[in-house]
This record gives sequence, structure tokens and C-alpha cells, in this order.
Amino acid sequence: VLSTMQDVPLLISRILTHGSTIHGTSQVTTWTGEAEPHRRSFAEVGARAAQLAHALREDLGVTDDQRVATLMWNNAEHVEAYFAIPSMGAILHTLNLRLPPEQLAWIVNHAADRVVIANGSLLPLLVPLLPHLKTVEHVVVSGPGDRSGLAGASVQVHEYEELIAGKPMTYDWPELDERQAASMCYTSGTTGDPKGVVYSHRSVYLHSMQVNMAQSMGLTDQDTSLIVVPQFHVNAWGLPHATFMTGVNMLMPDRFLQPAPLAEMIEGERPTHAAAVPTIWQGLLAELTAKPRDVSTLGQVTIGGSACPPSLMEAFDKLGMRVCHAWGMTETSPLGTVARPPAHVVGTEEEFAYRLTQGRFPTSVEARLTGPGGERLPWDGESAGELEVRGPWIAGAYYNGPDGEPLRPADKFSADGWLKTGDVGIISPDGYLTLTDRAKDVIKSGGEWISSVELENALMSHPDVAEAAVVAVPDDKWGERPLATVVLKEGSTADFQTLRTFLAEEGKIAKWQLPERWTVIEAVPKTSVGKFDKKVLRRQYADGQLD
Ligand code: ADP
Repeated sequence: VLSTMQDVPLLISRILTHGSTIHGTSQVTTWTGEAEPHRRSFAEVGARAAQLAHALREDLGVTDDQRVATLMWNNAEHVEAYFAIPSMGAILHTLNLRLPPEQLAWIVNHAADRVVIANGSLLPLLVPLLPHLKTVEHVVVSGPGDRSGLAGASVQVHEYEELIAGKPMTYDWPELDERQAASMCYTSGTTGDPKGVVYSHRSVYLHSMQVNMAQSMGLTDQDTSLIVVPQFHVNAWGLPHATFMTGVNMLMPDRFLQPAPLAEMIEGERPTHAAAVPTIWQGLLAELTAKPRDVSTLGQVTIGGSACPPSLMEAFDKLGMRVCHAWGMTETSPLGTVARPPAHVVGTEEEFAYRLTQGRFPTSVEARLTGPGGERLPWDGESAGELEVRGPWIAGAYYNGPDGEPLRPADKFSADGWLKTGDVGIISPDGYLTLTDRAKDVIKSGGEWISSVELENALMSHPDVAEAAVVAVPDDKWGERPLATVVLKEGSTADFQTLRTFLAEEGKIAKWQLPERWTVIEAVPKTSVGKFDKKVLRRQYADGQLD
């Protein structure tokens, strides 16, 4: 028997219409580096999104299913593109501006983007790529930056403001199929070619509702969210959509992502929430230590993308910025788990340990652990296996393989359709996930696993250590052993023996897991989204020899 309920599709245009009317006075504030940031209400963003959609359709001839790419910082225009493109039925493709140029060109060609909307300040990156972009016909430029590089380009060039000027401020958004593609994002390609994940209207809508739940970020129109996580990094973790649903004000850093302007933004604009990867927060912490600022409004900081070091959580707690740790990936939209402690530990000593886990799964994310032989492992807080997930905002395939069909590589999708995350961890009986490693980062020593993450966290809790990355190096006797690469804080004189003794203290790290190979490095290499790039370190020390 079918239900008697209305079958209304879950569409991004609905989020846009709702946000720009019911929450029309909420604001998107964009940092400009000048005395005054730029402010635009949700109502204006909605009107301009309609204008952009008219321009794309009528002037540039963008039709359904065509890909419109953005090469942009987090700013109001990028939010307009976020809503206009999917709402009109086309597909938003956010480009990761930190990727190596060859990879970026590969991705644009693979997605067959027809239009690129770019910030003027990013033209030095885009212009040299243009001759390699086979499908791009139009470039739309927004914001400050020298345009001269575009003279003589083989594409048609448009100014964003001129293009939308005078267009109608409303658009008759089509009633699309909610399963239709809305946006796409490529994984940063830590192994092999980058892979495209295509989100649907439905997946974005449901994901946004989850982001807004009290047990996730739980924000309301009384909040202002400083969205540092780039809009090209898994849709800024779903925040632009989620904020439009509930009227949360957005504070956008544009290209000012260095610790000093971030500190200024927090002091000046008084956000109540912020989201970014740990690397950003480590930088901000150093800045605030050197030059204290009033950060008292920032009650909640969402940290994800890589494990939040306990030392960072502690330091932020002391400053009154309460960290909420979360786990996810491009393939999971990204919200996978959020570490809100269970009620019975709040205010007790156990609470901190819960907050350090990757968190609990929401209703719509089903999880299971698979052992090396394919066996299901129990949620006993001890059995470590690969995490597999399933749910309405979890990818079931990647965008087109060579034959134009969706790609389902066997190492990424199980035969019964679950996503294999490549993350290894344990789940407690009450459903909290603790990741011990990425499958490819675990160190297999004498048939036992050593968690690189555990060693890194222990090292980073030493007051002289700024950053630490641990990788496996080949070892004749044990197969693999850990190599600790350490970035020391300025002026520190700590030596390896001191650090080793520190790790061994209080049984922090079991004796057999203590690294015997150490090296000091200037900085841990980072990926395009600011995570430790262990691939580079592994390559550098592939022969097990230190230089
Ligand atoms: P990439 O795989 O290129 O880094 P993603 O941004 O999709 O791109 O990264 C997802 C991965 O990041 C996860 O599979 C996991 O390994 C790691 N990750 C994300 N959040 C956390 C977290 N809170 N703790 C530990 N690892 C995390």
C-alpha cells in the first residue's frame, strides 16, 4: 500500500527559496582585507543567484546536465553559484585550487566543464591551464585581480557583475527529479587518478538537515559560522546549504586564510562557530599564543578532515573554544560521525576521551567493520577493521569510467554496495568510532599493527613538538618499523632520546612500538586540503635510510 503523503522532491532550489525569504536578513560576510568586510543579505544572495541562473542559461546557453565549474575562494559569489547552478538543473563542479595544475586540467577535462567561474585573484592559476582545457568555452571572472592574462584567450570571457546586471531577480526554478546530479567534487587523488563524486539534490538536502541537528553542529539563526573549510573541500562540509536552511550567518574568509587575518576576523566579526582542518587551527593557536585576541564568542569549533590532536583540543578548550571532532570524506558528503559525548559522561573525566573519538554515527549512516579476511567484526571497542558505510548521502559509485558508466572499483565498494572507506578503526559498544589509521598508513611490525596516529598524537603532546608525522619504513627483521619525523617548535632543543623517554612515560606507548628511527624536518608536507601528506614522506624514506 502506498502512503497518502505528498511526493515533494527534496531540491536545492527549495533551500535557496527558504533561506532567501524566511531568513532573508541573515548575512554572508566576506573578508576583503580592507577596513570593512563585504556584507550581503541572504535575500540579496537569492536575488543574485536568480540573476546568475538567467545569465548562465540565456547568455551562455547552459542547459541541464552541463557542468559549471568554480575556481573560487569562500565568498558571497561562490555561495550564489552554489545555489544558482544546481537549482537551474545544471551541475556545480567545485575545483580544488590547491591541486597541481596538471591534475586540475585532468579533472576539468574528465568532468567536461563548459563554464568556469573564477575569482580574479586566481587567474594566474587558471590562465596557463586554459590551452589544456578541452571543453571550457566560457570564463566568468569575479572579484579583484588582474584580467590582462585573459587577453587573447581562446575562451569567451565575461565579468560576473556585468553578466548578471539587469537580469530578473527571480527565477522559475524547475521541479527536478531529486535524484538528479546537483554538484560534484573530486577526491584529492591520494592514490591513482582523482575520482569524481556526484551529489544529488536529495543527498545534499538530507545531509544539510543532519548537519543542522543538535547532535551535529546544531546551529541556529543566532549563530555566525566562520567557514574556513574551503567550498571546494566537500562542499565546505555542507555548511553553505545547512546555513541557508536555518539562517545561520556565514563569515567567509575569501583568500585570507593565514592565522593573523583569521584571528582578526574572529575578534572583529565575533563568530560563534567555525570549521576547518587541524592544520588551520594549529596555525591559529600559534598566532593567538604570540598575540592574544578576544576569541570569546567562538564557542564551537568543528574539526575534521584528519584526526584532531588531543593537545590541540586541550589548548582550544582553555581558550573557551570548544572543539567538536567529526569524521567524513568526499564520498560521505562528508558528515560521517560527530563526537558529541553521551549524556552520562558529560562533566566527568571520561568526557574528554569521548570527544577525542571520531564520533557517533547518525541515523542515516550505517556502519560495519570488516577484518582482513572479509569477516564482520564486533563493536567491542577492541577489534580493528576497515570501516564500511552505507546511507542516503554516501557515494555508491564514482563519476564516469572510461566507458561512460559509473565506476565501482572493488577496493572502494563492496559487492553488496557499501563504501569501503579505507579507514581502519574500532567501534565501541555504544557506537563511537575511533580511527587508528588509514589502511595504507598502518605500520605492520612483526605481524602486529602499530598506529601511526597514536604515535603522532603522543608526540604532539610534547611541549617542544609543533608537528609530527610517523610513517612505516622497511625493516629487515620486523618487516616495517615506524619512522618519526618531527617538527620542533622554534628555539626548542629537545633531542630524540628525550622524546623517546617522553613517549615511554606512563605507558603512553608500548615499548615495542617506540620508534628507533627519528629525523627532524622543517615542516610536514601537506596535501591540497592541508592534511599530512605521508605519501611524500614514505617516498622520501622508502629505503629506510635517513639522510
Ligand atoms: P583525501 O582522501 O584526499 O584526503 P577527503 O577529504 O575525502 O580526501 O579525506 C577523507 C579522509 O580523511 C578519511 O577517509 C580519513 O582518512 C580522513 N579523515 C577525515 N576526518 C578525519 C578525522 N576526524 N580523523 C581522522 N581522519 C579523518
